[in-house]
Amino acid sequence: MTASDTAQDLDALLEEVAEVARPTARQGELADYIPALRDEDPDCFGLAMVDMDGTEYVVGDVDRPFAIQSISKVFSLVLAMQKADRAEGVKKELWDRVGVEPSGDPFNSLIQLEREKGIPRNPMINAGALVVDDVLLGHCENPREEMKALVSELAGEEVTIDERVADAEEGTSGRNRAIAYLMQSFDNLHHTVDEVIDAYAHQCAVQMTARQLARASRFLANDGVDPATGKQILRPPLARRVAAIMLTTGTYDAAGEFAFDVGLPCKSGVAGAIMALAPDRYGITVWSPPLDSSGNSRAGHVALHELAERLELSIF
Ligand code: GLN
Repeated sequence: MTASDTAQDLDALLEEVAEVARPTARQGELADYIPALRDEDPDCFGLAMVDMDGTEYVVGDVDRPFAIQSISKVFSLVLAMQKADRAEGVKKELWDRVGVEPSGDPFNSLIQLEREKGIPRNPMINAGALVVDDVLLGHCENPREEMKALVSELAGEEVTIDERVADAEEGTSGRNRAIAYLMQSFDNLHHTVDEVIDAYAHQCAVQMTARQLARASRFLANDGVDPATGKQILRPPLARRVAAIMLTTGTYDAAGEFAFDVGLPCKSGVAGAIMALAPDRYGITVWSPPLDSSGNSRAGHVALHELAERLELSIF
């Protein structure tokens, strides 16, 4: 089989996967807490898969931007781990303040926090991401710009932040503020709640496309090296740890289900995207806005299941 046959086969395979997954979107529901999500077209569907040579296999709406929402938690964690790798003190600060266990609870739950004295279970739930932002506020000149620069570099294109989405996030941040105040009461927040919520709202509002996210994820499937530039973004053991956190916590209380029927480290966002890593092979992102009850893209889940089965991508 020649290289171009393979490429054609993969394009056809992606079409088939999209055909199976698309109709299942109607089983999900759009997030409705802000206008940008409430008004999204539920029939949008995009699937992008980028290999380590940079070949891009795509189907559907892969160039239409959406808010990356919780997928940003991967990139803020990467930024914090970069800082932590350069200073033992930051490393201790980070991992003393946030755990690496699955929560088994919804992404915005407060229940464990009270019982576990303000230490979030992991950096992929809201509480954990707020602590990571608090750490970044202490160690970055401008966390918002640094994160934007990192994802732009990884995506190979300048990304933007939608200020309207950031404003809407801040305007509906009651629960995240409650989480932040609770952590503050346990001395696990060092900046003001306003500063931390502002940083978090802006990272949720970063606009990217499925194609850009698939590109941007590749370094995590490539021992921490961005294949586009050869730059080591994270040392290999650290890149593997990010992947481990994605696998065990990236889809919240459905992480077990994703491990079971996809078998790849994944991170979802409430705008309906799921970014997945196929180690040494592909960076993948699927986007379909309607969500299941855990807040993961319904059709995205189905698409990743189909793709992983057909290409034997499971890491297990
Ligand atoms: N902005 C959302 C929130 O904080 C992000 C959550 C998500 O994407 N799962 O609730």
